[in-house]
Amino acid sequence: MSVSEKTRKILWVQAGGRCAICKEQVITPGTDSDDPSVFGEEAHIVARSSGGPRAGGLAEELIDGHANLILLCSKDHKRVDDQPGHFTVERLRQIKGDHEAWVRSLGDADAGRTRLVPDPMFPQPRVLKLITRGNPLWNMVKESVTFEYAMPDNLRDDDEDLIIEFMDLLKDYLDIAGELVSVRENRDVEKTLQRYISQLAERGFLVGAYVRHMLLTGGTAQDATPWPMLRVEVQLGTSAVVTNESGTPYPDQAR
Ligand SMILES: [Zn+2]
Repeated sequence: MSVSEKTRKILWVQAGGRCAICKEQVITPGTDSDDPSVFGEEAHIVARSSGGPRAGGLAEELIDGHANLILLCSKDHKRVDDQPGHFTVERLRQIKGDHEAWVRSLGDADAGRTRLVPDPMFPQPRVLKLITRGNPLWNMVKESVTFEYAMPDNLRDDDEDLIIEFMDLLKDYLDIAGELVSVRENRDVEKTLQRYISQLAERGFLVGAYVRHMLLTGGTAQDATPWPMLRVEVQLGTSAVVTNESGTPYPDQAR
C-alpha cells in the first residue's frame, strides 16, 4: 500500500499546508513562468521499514493512514529522522496534535488560504437518507473525502460498542475506498456494511446518511477542489422521525 491521494489531501488540509514543527508554509507561490514549489513531505510517525527510526507496533494497513502521517518541511523531516531519540513516536504525535489544534485556532482570519464552502452546483441535503442496505452507503463512502458521525447518548455498553465499531469501520473504508477496485472487494465491503446495518436494526437502531458537497477554496490552488463530506447518524428507531425529502414528516410519524 502507499499513501492515497485522499489521505494526502486530508493531511495537507489539517496541517494548514504548514510544517508541524517550524510552521512554515511548505509550498511557495508560483510565478508567471514557474509552478509553485513544494517542499512539504509526508513523514511517517511509526515508520514503514522495520529497521528504520520509530519502527514497529502499528498494523500494516494503518501505516499509510493520515493518522500516522505528519506534514514536515524537508529540513525538519531530515532532523526528525536523524534524531529518533528526541523525536519519538509519542513526541511526534504530540507535535502533530498541537499543530492541528493551532491550525484550527487560526479560524477564518487566516483561512484566506483554505476554506470549505458549500458547492453551489449541488443541492444541500436537508435530511438524512434512511440507509437499509450496504450498497447505497458504500457508494456514499466512495464519493466522499471526509466523514463525520453522530450517535445517541446514554446507550447500553454493548449497543455503544457496536455503533462505535460501525463508525470506525466506515472511517477505515473511507481511507482505503480508492484502493478497492475489484468487484469482489466492493461486494465484500457492501456485505460487511449490510451486516452492521442489520444488526443495528435488530437492536432498534436506524442508520441515516447524506453527502454534503463542499468545495475547498483558497490556498495556492487556482480552482476549488470538490470536498464531499459524508455524515452518518445512528438513531434510536423510537425517536427518529421519518420524513419525505424536504423534511416533512410522513403522517403516521408526526408527533
Ligand atoms: Zn519545518
